Amino acid sequence: MSESPADLSTTPRLYVAMPLAPGAAVVLPVPQSHYLAQVMRRQAGDMVRLFDGVNGEFAARLQSVGRKAVVAVIEAQSAPQESVPDLWLCFAPIKRGRIDWLVEKACELGVAKLVPVITRRTIVDRLNLERLQAHVIEAAEQCGRTALPELVAPVPLAALLAGWPAGRQLLFADESGGESLARAARPGPAALLIGPEGGFMAEEARAIGAMAESVRISLGPRILRADTAAIAAVSVWQAICEISQPVATNR
Ligand code: SAH
Repeated sequence: MSESPADLSTTPRLYVAMPLAPGAAVVLPVPQSHYLAQVMRRQAGDMVRLFDGVNGEFAARLQSVGRKAVVAVIEAQSAPQESVPDLWLCFAPIKRGRIDWLVEKACELGVAKLVPVITRRTIVDRLNLERLQAHVIEAAEQCGRTALPELVAPVPLAALLAGWPAGRQLLFADESGGESLARAARPGPAALLIGPEGGFMAEEARAIGAMAESVRISLGPRILRADTAAIAAVSVWQAICEISQPVATNR
């Protein structure tokens, strides 16, 4: 079945960690080759959409579909490399399952950077970044992002604060009260900071509050689960600030 480039919207959309340019022939990595050949049963001549996280998304025609490898020839760019609002989500890692959901939703909602933060009450001692990165990629493939959010290794809260970039608003989600996020959020580089299931320790809250860039924000009168708070905060921020955001430059 060889489709014309016109009906790309129904074609598989895959991230490949290799530079894409019109005319290039790329040998897709094993996971993507297996998915197209064995799962999606695609054949030579079929169209797919590939994006590399840097150059945008491209229509690509499958040149050969082998058991071990699929070769695709890159055709026209089908979507430009997007600019995402410069928003970081800093979050204390929470239980598996919930953290996978949090990372997937944050990606769909356009977060530029995901920063796991180790706090005193963080119960998760080991974070499987490879698994989380796979969720990030799958979410980006599904939602149409061309820029992947950057997922960094966990950082202790003290180190995060010590290295805080000047000028980046630190919106500290505090269930004990704070400004309305809707009022506190302002266009420009920003970060949301969400605590663990057990919340921040008092001295941690004091250290965060002492930051020149920090603003304590409330997400309402109820105690939200950490994953609920993270996604609620990102959604509110995006609704208010996404329109006038500069391109995320924090690479
Ligand atoms: N200390 C809470 C549990 C923490 S909830 C308790 O008493 O049970 C996990 C995190 O979600 C918090 O650290 C905070 O960052 C965020 N959060 C939860 N509800 C919130 C609210 N209403 N406003 C702002 N942040 C909230």
